[in-house]
Amino acid sequence: MIDLHIHTTASDGTWTPEQVVVAAKQGGLDAIAITDHDTFAGYEEAQPVAAREGVPLICGIELSTKLPPATPNGRPKTVHLLGYFLRPPAAPLLEWVKTQQAIRHERNVQLSARLAELGVPVTMAEVRERGRSMAGRPHFASLMVEKGYVATLQEAFDKYLDEKGVAYVDKHDPSLAEGIRQVREAGGIASLAHPIRLNRFGREEEDLIRQMAKMGIHAIEAWHPDHTERHRERYEILAQRYRLAVTGGSDFHGDNKPGVALGTGKGGNVNVPRKVLERLRGLVRA
Ligand code: AMP
Ligand code: FE
Ligand code: ZN
Ligand code: FE
Repeated sequence: MIDLHIHTTASDGTWTPEQVVVAAKQGGLDAIAITDHDTFAGYEEAQPVAAREGVPLICGIELSTKLPPATPNGRPKTVHLLGYFLRPPAAPLLEWVKTQQAIRHERNVQLSARLAELGVPVTMAEVRERGRSMAGRPHFASLMVEKGYVATLQEAFDKYLDEKGVAYVDKHDPSLAEGIRQVREAGGIASLAHPIRLNRFGREEEDLIRQMAKMGIHAIEAWHPDHTERHRERYEILAQRYRLAVTGGSDFHGDNKPGVALGTGKGGNVNVPRKVLERLRGLVRA
């Protein structure tokens, strides 16, 4: 079994890269990819530990991108794009990732100001202490729980941080097409993270996936803790139909996503066979 979607303390996970690698070894995982949001720092830190422990480690990243709205009055849709086999990260990609980090920082400053306005302040100093340079909404959420503004992380998202929440601040993410282009030019494999969150079903979902295949995406994530068995089967069928590979992982975030285990997801609903990785490696060589 492998796990190709993992977050560490370098972004919004609560386990250090070392803890992740050691747990992967203890859990008997055949390979893992670290896919922190907008940074390679977790991968870099995990690399020597993985070498020492003999855990095959793939360099990954999860990029926040947007799909333009389908209708003139629609909202752009946030799409997470996974990039794999980016070692060593090419200089242009590193530069580009730096601009993504600046965009994230700018959003965090605005979000902090908005929360103060709403009488539930979370300062940038507090956020930085928790999330360092790669702080995200989950760090805001856990601080809001600690300060007693909300009872749970989910309530923090529902009331404040989610796209429908009162404190939501738009992040000026690049387009999905641009993200795919950056990953491809760096020699990597691009995969659509958790397609269920496109929140489109049937024909509409299929149209989006066809569009992404045209943009040059290589794969879609079939195994994810938010996917039922039926979702996974459907994503495998859609992948085949549009000649895409599949990827999968637990989207592990430690305590920031209670109930999701490394390698196995929610109640064992993630179990990605090793052959998935062999196919991806074949694509990199091709
Ligand atoms: P950010 O990249 O800082 O905007 O934060 C995005 C992260 O917040 C995602 O990767 C999820 O881990 C988490 N997240 C986003 N929306 C929700 C939600 N509605 N409920 C729980 N977690 C969420
Ligand atoms: Fe996350
Ligand atoms: Zn994601
Ligand atoms: Fe993720």
